[in-house]
Amino acid sequence: MELVNGSYAIQNVNALDICAQFGTPVYVYDAEKIVNQLRNLKMAFSGADLKIKYAAKALTNISVLKLLRKHGAGIDVVSIQEAHLALKAGYTAGEIMFTPNCAEYEELVEGAKAGLMLNIDNLPHLKRFGEQFGNTYPCCLRLNPHIMAGGNLKISTGHSNSKFGISVYQIPQIMEIVDQHKINVTGLHIHTGSEISEADVFIKMAEIFFSVAREFKDLRFIDFGSGFKVAYQDGDAVTNVYDLGLKLTKAFTEFCEQYGRKLELWIEPGKYIVSDAGNLLVKTTVVKSTPSVTFIGVNSGLNHLIRPMMYDAYHSIINVSNPEGPQKTYTVVGYICETDTIGADRKINEVTEGDILAIRNAGAYGFSMASNYNSRLRPAEVMVINGEAKLIRERETLGDLLKNQVEINL
Ligand SMILES: *Cc1c(COP(=O)(O)O)cnc(C)c1O
Repeated sequence: MELVNGSYAIQNVNALDICAQFGTPVYVYDAEKIVNQLRNLKMAFSGADLKIKYAAKALTNISVLKLLRKHGAGIDVVSIQEAHLALKAGYTAGEIMFTPNCAEYEELVEGAKAGLMLNIDNLPHLKRFGEQFGNTYPCCLRLNPHIMAGGNLKISTGHSNSKFGISVYQIPQIMEIVDQHKINVTGLHIHTGSEISEADVFIKMAEIFFSVAREFKDLRFIDFGSGFKVAYQDGDAVTNVYDLGLKLTKAFTEFCEQYGRKLELWIEPGKYIVSDAGNLLVKTTVVKSTPSVTFIGVNSGLNHLIRPMMYDAYHSIINVSNPEGPQKTYTVVGYICETDTIGADRKINEVTEGDILAIRNAGAYGFSMASNYNSRLRPAEVMVINGEAKLIRERETLGDLLKNQVEINL
């Protein structure tokens, strides 16, 4: 969203017009930005046989999934339901990486029946998979290297508190199961969930991971997960994808030479692709001053965007209705009966009741984490594509709240 001739627009579509047409609150996604981010990654890793598996859970709207497929992305799904959405969006089974965590074993079987690439993340299910499928169906193993690619390299020894992946300290147990059932391990996966701020740190982690990968003889790909960091406010450290792409491609190519086969390099970005493309547009319900704070109430809250409360995430907020008014300090809160502060002590151009505010960087983990708490309805979703605003999800109605409820006679 850019300020053009005194008003905010997305691809030259006026943001206030979008609100007038579709109502508020509304999630608005800029398709051009989504496609651009995808292109950045492709360019950054152009030296490798790259497969981008978009992490669907970040923003699962089927039109977004279709857009990404059209531009060459594959997809990573974490539930069988997401897998079905991906199939519905047109992804072939072979393009879908299925990464459930602590889900029922039967979901893996369903994934195999659908033809997905299975990413197995625990020893009991690997054993059951081996017993059932032997070498008749390939799989990928999700490993936990106990390494955090944070500001500095931290290697936790002995155990990890993370529920994700199979510990690299359990390689002997993995090998025993794999050998016993002749399991066809074609991929290895890591996704620590931590964000990459420095390529060099990530490369160190990759080197450790390569030493594990040498144990597996039939690999076709290595999946490095995500961790691509985006800016939520000025001055945030971000992942320099070009630096990372260059360095990881180099290290990966060297590994492939030693390994004796060219492998595919997979990544699973979610946030990087859709975060900045999304804005949550909300309406000011009230400007309420106490002796110490001026609150702006809006017709949204933690039911639509839980990141500020759940992760202490910072989302910048702008007044779309009054872009050039004098700046004042406000605390922006939702209409939910909880303390749902969206942004505290923010400098925002003067706000009056009815003004439209934009909550920025709301594309990832916004709508996909939304709920009906307080019996509020989930917002509409709009995609701006080719200079046109298109509805991609209807606003919910009271009927949606009642849909699965069974009224008993009392
Ligand atoms: C959530 C998730 C991702 C994406 O993480 P981002 O921080 O949104 O890029 C990738 N891989 C797996 C397995 C995930 O669960």
